[in-house]
Amino acid sequence: MISKGDMVYAFSSDARIREIGESGGAITSLLKFALERGIVDAVLGVEKGYDVYDPRPVLITDPADIAKTAGSLPCGTLLLSKMFSNYLDDMLDLKIAAPLKGCDVMGLYELAKRDRVNLDNVLMFGLNCSGSITPAMARRITVEKFGVDPDTVINASISRGCFVIDHEKGRESIPIDELEKEVYGRRSNCRRCSMKVPRQTDLACGNWGLTPDMFGKYTFIEVCSDRGAELLNKALDAGVIQVKEPGQKGLDIRKRIEDSMQRLSDTWRGKDFEPLNQSRNRLERMIEETSRCIKCYTCVDACPVLSGSKKPYLTTSPGKIPPRFEFHLIRYSHVADSCIDCGQCEELCPMDIPNSLFMHAIAVELEEMYGYHAGVDMSIPAIALMEDFERGEQ
Ligand code: SF4
Ligand code: SF4
Ligand code: SF4
Repeated sequence: MISKGDMVYAFSSDARIREIGESGGAITSLLKFALERGIVDAVLGVEKGYDVYDPRPVLITDPADIAKTAGSLPCGTLLLSKMFSNYLDDMLDLKIAAPLKGCDVMGLYELAKRDRVNLDNVLMFGLNCSGSITPAMARRITVEKFGVDPDTVINASISRGCFVIDHEKGRESIPIDELEKEVYGRRSNCRRCSMKVPRQTDLACGNWGLTPDMFGKYTFIEVCSDRGAELLNKALDAGVIQVKEPGQKGLDIRKRIEDSMQRLSDTWRGKDFEPLNQSRNRLERMIEETSRCIKCYTCVDACPVLSGSKKPYLTTSPGKIPPRFEFHLIRYSHVADSCIDCGQCEELCPMDIPNSLFMHAIAVELEEMYGYHAGVDMSIPAIALMEDFERGEQ
């Protein structure tokens, strides 16, 4: 009997799913099982879009279609939490299972605090995550570092600290830290991200903790909730998956990878935040960078914290760009304590304004001051508590 807090290696009992799955097909089989048994109404996943650099969200209700979501697509800039709020917000009663990266999960928690998502209805499969690469960067690495035509790549992945491509002449890889010593690498918010294993989910899944001989054959699963344990036990009884206990060696490997990813994230935070550390520098840089703004509002629409909020039209004059700096100040102040460093406001900004860098730097300072960490649980943001206090509601 599996319980909350247990850790297991799992793989699919279905040979075809094992073949198409990234790590023994355990997640694919569990998603299919949850759909077949009516435990969920739909699965929100990601499938290959135009090419391997283009992950596309897909809502699946037919278990036969689950195979579309098998495997990993580390390129692209998708944030699945926005799919819940932008497209499914009139279906809050729909029970959905979803494999989610740390930023997707954190976004869902922030949306749930704002009544845009009902977490009781989301069965969360958290994925350990080393980061993602934009499609443009992935293509550039493929051409400039591998000397390969990006349109001939069959599969791209981030595995064991390397960016890996499969193409007609075989497999090639380059360590991520080697790429990041030059001008290549992961999205800048991913370099700073510390949500490497999202344990505020039902099941935290991935390949961190596998011994070398197990790679590609098993998924490491950490059971983070009673609901996750119940799903695993039902799937085991039905013979859908098989599990075995991880030995100390696997647990040590998992800890070592997670610790080294955290150290890398701390290093990048230091490098990125250091130039902002003096308040005057920061303000001057914010004013200078935002002076390119064309007032497209993408940073407001794309943000899971601001999603659905009223755009700060009052601080802008129709037909005039750039907007006054107050536009950005108001936006920053509304998201400052709840920024989850998902990077959406930066990578989708048509003027390359480093919005997420500014937001993340402030959020980390507020975390240190008030101990509030956005996206990790349902606790209320520090600034909201202060507003309640001022209104005499505390
Ligand atoms: Fe992964 Fe973190 Fe980047 Fe999200 S922000 S893709 S969880 S590294
Ligand atoms: Fe994501 Fe930017 Fe919003 Fe922060 S401010 S949560 S990085 S979109
Ligand atoms: Fe300005 Fe960029 Fe935001 Fe558009 S996305 S409003 S250009 S800061």
